[in-house]
Amino acid sequence: MRSWPAPSLPSPSPSPVGAALLLRDGASGRLVAVGDGPSARLYVCGITPYDATHLGHAFTYLTFDLVQRAWRQLGREVVYTQNITDVDDPLLERARSVGVDWRELAQDQIELFRQDMAALRVIPPQHYLGVVESLDLVTDLIGRLVELGAVYQVDDPKHPDWYFACRRAPGFGSLSGWDDRQMEAVFAERGGDPDRPGKRDPLDCLIWRLARPGEPSWDSPFGAGRPGWHVECTAIALSRLGPAFDLQGGGSDLIFPHHEMCAAEAQWATGQPLAQAYLHAAMVGLAGEKMSKSRGNLVLVSQLRRAGADPMAVRLALLAHHYATDWSWSPADLEDGQARLQRWRQAIRAPRSAPAESTVQAIGQAVLGDLRADRALAAVDAWAEAGQTASQDVAGARAELARAVDAWLGVAM
Ligand code: ZN
Repeated sequence: MRSWPAPSLPSPSPSPVGAALLLRDGASGRLVAVGDGPSARLYVCGITPYDATHLGHAFTYLTFDLVQRAWRQLGREVVYTQNITDVDDPLLERARSVGVDWRELAQDQIELFRQDMAALRVIPPQHYLGVVESLDLVTDLIGRLVELGAVYQVDDPKHPDWYFACRRAPGFGSLSGWDDRQMEAVFAERGGDPDRPGKRDPLDCLIWRLARPGEPSWDSPFGAGRPGWHVECTAIALSRLGPAFDLQGGGSDLIFPHHEMCAAEAQWATGQPLAQAYLHAAMVGLAGEKMSKSRGNLVLVSQLRRAGADPMAVRLALLAHHYATDWSWSPADLEDGQARLQRWRQAIRAPRSAPAESTVQAIGQAVLGDLRADRALAAVDAWAEAGQTASQDVAGARAELARAVDAWLGVAM
């Protein structure tokens, strides 16, 4: 799948020896150095292409854009893979309800997503794979899991679909750290089917759904059908990054079941963990409620752009919030982002400036210390303010500051 155009990237400036990106690993809860080898491998779960790109999506992809930028500043080679869930129940339902072909809906929404990502200056993945174009990878992985006895057919003569026996997977539950009660509480609302007759365990997840009339399907050794959600990401991630890659990411609503199931499938299939660390971006609400497709309260990046918002102001509005804390969007967020962008641009173009060296250092330290973009923003605010009372221009300071803001935060001045 074609991704989107890359923003221009300043070349990395030398980092202090031993500098590392520290992130709070979602599985262990510990602050750990992530991507510490010469190449850093990242997988972030992509969109299901409908209702793209709401601010929750944008917040997630910006979080991992900071990860990529930090790694590049540290001189790492970054290998980034992202999928698109371009065949799935919600997509098919939406296509039916609005009366368009599901492929057409997916193409339109993927194109909109690309435009939003490019406008926000998100660095694109090197490997951008749709599920439909990756079915061979998916069926190969399912085949391996069948051989290993990890997969069974439900006891349903009409539709004996294939399920993954997650409970028997080594380490199942260790990513989320959740107990049965917590898992069962959200499984149904996040695409699971705990009450499906014929399953061996309520939490077992669908891995291959046999063909139904009126639904797309593809031939496979397990019968014509289409894959379940989790195994798609597992197969795509393993194919491009191998096992035990550096970081698996997504929104916090993917912790369970999605990432837990992906991790369990990979562990069983390869004998190794899927990823060495996990990071989850917090949820973005609207007026105190969760922003979600089902509630119909989405704010879309494309709406804000159409209404004239500078994408860099949208970027700043989102970066003002730490990735780990749920928050609620309001129009004041965008106003703050616009005002901040204006202050910064004025300071960059002013005839006088404050020295930039300590601010540039503070930006890097804030991002490397668990992606505290909010603290980086505060440091730049203080620099811009100090410039107002500066009596002279410090040679190169404004260019140095603009370069750091672009390199670490992705905000073009
Ligand atoms: Zn995924």
